[in-house]
Amino acid sequence: MVTPRIPYVLPFPPPPTHPKNATTLTAAIDAVTNFLESRNIVILTGAGVSVESGLADYRGGRGTYRLNRTYRPIFYEEFARNHEARKRRYWARSFLGWPIMEKAKPNRAHLSISMLGKLGVLNHVITQNVDSLHYACHPHLRTTELHGTLRTLTCLTCRSPYPRAEFQKALAELNPKWAEFLHTAIEAGIFDNDYRREGGIKTNPDGDVDVPGAPYTKFRYPPCPTCLNSDDIRVLVDAQGSHKPDGRLATNGVLKPSVTFFGESVAPEAKAEAEEMVDKCGGILVVGTSLATYSAYRLAKASHDAGKDVGIVNLGGVRGEDLFFSREAKGKRLRVDFGVGDVLAGVVMNLGGEVTEGVGSETPLGGGGAGLGG
Ligand SMILES: [Zn+2]
Repeated sequence: MVTPRIPYVLPFPPPPTHPKNATTLTAAIDAVTNFLESRNIVILTGAGVSVESGLADYRGGRGTYRLNRTYRPIFYEEFARNHEARKRRYWARSFLGWPIMEKAKPNRAHLSISMLGKLGVLNHVITQNVDSLHYACHPHLRTTELHGTLRTLTCLTCRSPYPRAEFQKALAELNPKWAEFLHTAIEAGIFDNDYRREGGIKTNPDGDVDVPGAPYTKFRYPPCPTCLNSDDIRVLVDAQGSHKPDGRLATNGVLKPSVTFFGESVAPEAKAEAEEMVDKCGGILVVGTSLATYSAYRLAKASHDAGKDVGIVNLGGVRGEDLFFSREAKGKRLRVDFGVGDVLAGVVMNLGGEVTEGVGSETPLGGGGAGLGG
């Protein structure tokens, strides 16, 4: 098996500024306001948008690849084929990380995007984030979740969806000691942001937590209930209902998060929808992402290649951005090096709107009934 490479774990070169005077926050906000007002723009977001919600990003100053140099996410083939890897490298960590993910609330950046939708400035969002915060914050403003969502699982055998919140309950029942530990840890505030940093507890944007020394090999997880109850599909479980796949039946009834893993292709529907949006729009505004994944980079490049507008709001450099600001660039260009929340909230104010912080999600994530959406 060839292990896919994780792209760009080292920092990109410092970004250009465009227009040249956009070196103060106020000037940057004005520049982004102008950019959005000019034409029908589609917005493409990444992990930087969720940082103010307490979720880690990958390549920001405190991102997973910066603070945790040995971090390597599980790859698709490992997850699909290997029961040990599934429990040890994925489900045990995901079980501990889910409450952080479930508790995360949309922040100023999501609320601003929601308001820009209501003001008629935006009509579509493409996100690489799997945290469902766009989905929760602005159901009225259509979101393409390019890399899928953690709120649902999909069975690798029968393709049935299964709500992640329900799966969490099943994991707690099969792993009572882990559930007790998790409950105690939450009560003690161990997963709160500051403590996590000090205690060496590592989290990442895929919603997993690494607790040093935890007995990961003993973790148990259930198979797909649809496959288990089917007469045609053979799924092996122990007396308590924990999945016990052997070599030949290794992938039968395996539930996988409905997200694109490393080593896996982006879902064709999401890819087509994102491409169609970029095709229809006058330009793209890239926010809170360094475009390190090719599936996102190519959307910005498609806009550039078609002679359309390309704007970038991101702290730190972005993959291949020299191209967008080269002499052959035809559309409008914007590049500001400021935090997404500050900039977008400022744009909303410029346009006469208001971002009210502390507003809850319009769509609860943990309700248990959330299907494949976006
Ligand atoms: Zn199934």
